[in-house]
Amino acid sequence: MSRSLIVAANWKMNGDSALIDAMIAKLSQVSFNDNVKVVIAPSFPYLDKLNSAVKAANLSDKISVSAQNISEQTSGAFTGEVSTAMLCDLAISHTIIGHSERRSIYGESDTLIADKVAVALAAGVTPILCIGESEAEREAGQTEQVLAKQLSAVIEKTGIEAFANIVLAYEPVWAIGTGKTASPEMAQETHAFIRKFIAASAQDIALMLPILYGGSVNQKTSEALFAQPDIDGGLIGGASLKADEFGTICQNA
Ligand code: PEP
Repeated sequence: MSRSLIVAANWKMNGDSALIDAMIAKLSQVSFNDNVKVVIAPSFPYLDKLNSAVKAANLSDKISVSAQNISEQTSGAFTGEVSTAMLCDLAISHTIIGHSERRSIYGESDTLIADKVAVALAAGVTPILCIGESEAEREAGQTEQVLAKQLSAVIEKTGIEAFANIVLAYEPVWAIGTGKTASPEMAQETHAFIRKFIAASAQDIALMLPILYGGSVNQKTSEALFAQPDIDGGLIGGASLKADEFGTICQNA
């Protein structure tokens, strides 16, 4: 059994129409390895434009479009929120959930994140579920405990079977946007722990579970990280805002 390699872009609150045009032009020139899939997550206002551009460039078999967040509510009086039904209406297949910026800046709890994962799955939208420890937690030797707690909150809500339809992203908080990438060995060790944790409840699901690494990945570091046996691609922030660099990461994946 082999897993696809997923190269996902998280544009955060960056990017515009010009970046969509530049990215599609660049990715149209990339010769992708057969097992590579790309996911791009722009801000909400650009989802439909990006999806149309992907279709127009005949890249739908390679590139999926993702939201960066969703509401845990399905509809109603929740000003400023976006529902999974709206994503489905726009044929958006993925959503990031539980990014560390949502956890730390917007106070999203493990429980809320688990609710969002359940809502996404119920609508048929694939969650890219982010987990990761802070620098203090790693230094205190609590990495595995923190990851287990974050995963357990979701497992309690959805059941372990749901992980057949989830993409995980391990993003150590200390590596996000800091230029400090985990070494391939350090990342591999943590990915292996995550897979083992899931395997303890569901061996088959763990074997097929895509686990992406995120945290200052760039065109220099991506190859060695993606070559690790339990690293199935990356979730890429800063380097995904440069069409040439992101194209190189996809090309080398
Ligand atoms: C991210 O935001 O998910 C991320 C990994 O960012 P960066 O690549 O900039 O560290």
